[in-house]
Amino acid sequence: MTDASQPDTGLSDDELLRYSRHILHPGIDYEGQLALKQGRVAIVGAGGLGCPAAMYLAASGVGSLTIFDDDSVEASNLQRQIGFTSVDIGQAKAEALCARLSALNPHIRVQSVVSRFTEATGAPEDFDLVLDCSDNFATRAGVNKFCVSRRVPLVSGAAIRNEGQLCVFDSRVEGSACYHCLYGDLDESGGAANCAESGVLSPLVGVIGALQAVEATKVLFGRHQDSLGKLLLYDATGVLFRTLRFSQDPECAVCGNTPSPRP
Ligand SMILES: [Zn+2]
Repeated sequence: MTDASQPDTGLSDDELLRYSRHILHPGIDYEGQLALKQGRVAIVGAGGLGCPAAMYLAASGVGSLTIFDDDSVEASNLQRQIGFTSVDIGQAKAEALCARLSALNPHIRVQSVVSRFTEATGAPEDFDLVLDCSDNFATRAGVNKFCVSRRVPLVSGAAIRNEGQLCVFDSRVEGSACYHCLYGDLDESGGAANCAESGVLSPLVGVIGALQAVEATKVLFGRHQDSLGKLLLYDATGVLFRTLRFSQDPECAVCGNTPSPRP
């Protein structure tokens, strides 16, 4: 962990200068910057989505970032995973990204966890928010169960080829849907595609990762109500942003009122 001095109390002169474009923003101001500083965010996956999301949140001044990833940097990652450089090849992604974040902003605390996110690795009091930047449905399902059971907001992003998706869930809000309400029991054999098999346009993951960072700041500001119940779809080929609305599935096995075991 990279320590920062007194992260929970006010903003220093150095921080007031660093974050001046936030503090000048009438929708953020000093109070908003303090909310970012007090934020404790988990980022699951240090890949194409996690790198830009983490870098924007670090630059924004989110006070505590914990990066989960069990993988190491490979040459084929460098096409899109902008938190890494050629000298990082072979290093643990979580550790290499944390080093980059600390260099970017020494005022924040960063922690690397070189393993996949599980309920055991993420204690309930640790996070105000989780960003799912993973690339497999097993992790996505586990992250969703964690967030529903612990009532932690979740910002989920995904990207493949020329298409991306973004969604915000908040199980603290009565009647709010979860990831499982929207996608059901998806698994790797159920038509799931990943970048290793299907490819992805480099800047597309930057778009979706940056959108995840935008939504994360809104959650920390407490101004994300308009984001709930909406699925944002980005089609780079057609230059289209579309928003689909959805609602909680009362039969949902994860968040429904009467959960029933699935076969
Ligand atoms: Zn649900």
